[in-house]
Amino acid sequence: MPIDPTQPYDNANIFAKILRGEIPCNRVYEDEWALAFEDINPQAEIHTLVIPKGAYVSWDDFSARANAEEIAGFVRAVGMVARDKGLVEPGYRLLANTGVHGGQEVPHLHVHLFGGQPLGPMIL
Ligand code: C5P
Repeated sequence: MPIDPTQPYDNANIFAKILRGEIPCNRVYEDEWALAFEDINPQAEIHTLVIPKGAYVSWDDFSARANAEEIAGFVRAVGMVARDKGLVEPGYRLLANTGVHGGQEVPHLHVHLFGGQPLGPMIL
């Protein structure tokens, strides 16, 4: 079910639980600003999710409310994960499903990182 983007942040969402360590994830990177872990239902050879540590529902929420330090930290973390995975050449794809038309299912901002194969016109 796509999320209702008008709802406030839900502390019980699954990525909030992952951030609090209440449920496990296959973690690949973590710093002050972000956590990255492997998607449980990969749609490409490499499919990693990067989430901010702050409580943001979506890309819209994050871009409107996060401060410059949080935004910089998160964006740097996404780039770091892609570099750590050796994806810069031949390249990769980032995706942030947002709201109902975006098909966003989990109401904590997450950026999908896809790579490891030619990705073509895939839309998730
Ligand atoms: O962008 P969207 O909200 O649709 O994507 C949610 C993603 O979170 C899915 O790709 C799903 O496989 C992933 N997921 C996960 N671990 C969970 C729950 C969902 O990797 N425990």
